[in-house]
Amino acid sequence: MFPTEDSEFDRHHLWHPYTSMLDPLPCYPVISAQGCCITLEEGQELVEGMSSWWAAIHGYNHPRLNRALTDQIAKMSHVMFGGLTHRPAVELGRALLTIVPPSLTKLFLADSGSVAVEVAMKMAVQYWSGTTKTKQKFLTLRGGYHGDTYAAMSVCDPDNSMHALWKGYLPEHLFVPVPRCTFDQAWDEREADALRAAFAEHHHTLAAVILEPIVQGAGGMRFYHPQLLKRVRELCDQYDVLLIADEIATGFGRTGKMFACEHAQVSPDILCVGKGLTGGTMTLAATLTTDCVAEGISRSPAGCFMHGPTFMGNPLACAVATESLKILAEGAWQQQVLSIEQQLKVGLGPLINHKNVKDVRVLGAIGVVECYRDVAMAEIQAFFVDAGVWIRPFGKLIYLMPPYVISEQQLAQLMAAIAEAVGQETLFL
Ligand SMILES: *Cc1c(COP(=O)(O)O)cnc(C)c1O
Repeated sequence: MFPTEDSEFDRHHLWHPYTSMLDPLPCYPVISAQGCCITLEEGQELVEGMSSWWAAIHGYNHPRLNRALTDQIAKMSHVMFGGLTHRPAVELGRALLTIVPPSLTKLFLADSGSVAVEVAMKMAVQYWSGTTKTKQKFLTLRGGYHGDTYAAMSVCDPDNSMHALWKGYLPEHLFVPVPRCTFDQAWDEREADALRAAFAEHHHTLAAVILEPIVQGAGGMRFYHPQLLKRVRELCDQYDVLLIADEIATGFGRTGKMFACEHAQVSPDILCVGKGLTGGTMTLAATLTTDCVAEGISRSPAGCFMHGPTFMGNPLACAVATESLKILAEGAWQQQVLSIEQQLKVGLGPLINHKNVKDVRVLGAIGVVECYRDVAMAEIQAFFVDAGVWIRPFGKLIYLMPPYVISEQQLAQLMAAIAEAVGQETLFL
């Protein structure tokens, strides 16, 4: 049992993500997690549908990841990366470079996804500062999400991240409408009109386009057409603008490809990865770029890249990330993600006929049920916990992105809980 005073302490003193300190929603105390199960302090087991926000791709308490951590702990948990280096960083660098597009050759180890995005944006601006052009603006798609720090927030969807609230404090960037052409619809060339117009008008001020390739995650769980990404790449080449692909959510197999850019066969100038990088064990992210961008930055007035966090290249995080990449390199994820995709299509697909459901979409190991009304968060959360599943909807979206190792029966339980929830009026506002 979780002591009541601990619950009270949590409620009164610990901030949770996007939570009010006046009227926080209930939080469920967890005692352990194993495979695809989260065990609550009360003893109840929940099938994990979220991979702890895209991260725990191999499931929890994985013996190989644990061993990588304990082996590394016995050597050193951390040393500064300024003036020092170590095998865990080198091995991780090598492993990452074998799976990203070959043009990406230089990498910066950052401590979280948002920081990786900050780093990417700084790279782009610094790159142009070394040329005759002054280019400091970013172009992005509405409906995106790139993190919670200031620069990252400035390219998130302006409504979702409440740009009005930060007016005067956030740099103002350029947005084109949310992509309408979905992943498996016929491509409509008019979809790229807004992009073409934005490039034509603003290219001389544009440092980069930043976007989440194919899947817009926290900004709305949308899957857009690969042709749109192709057009962005072509326009970037035509107008001399860098392309930043934020694969923090989509990287490492989640969409059925190792990286979502592969759906459109494009290669970005700067790539951000995070979330699944350490298999959900430690916070670590990376920003990768090309020789050309790295050299440009190094020739810019500053003479070096202006970033260097205290915990940069943390050996513990690097060691476990390398092991996670080894597991991926063995290749079982491809069949696992494919099976999850097929099961999600069969299991969630029919919900489209329900009167409360507006859309059902599946790509790789991501399944989304979009409802007409917002969920009643506390109620639906309690409903799912009672049903023995961990699913955390937001707004009108109930979605699954389970660990790749989930069993058929566990996934069936997650989908059954969703099917039941959409029929319960009291779970919606
Ligand atoms: C989660 C996320 C981020 C931010 O990562 P944090 O580790 O939460 O800072 C950035 N971009 C995308 C696409 C994400 O999904």
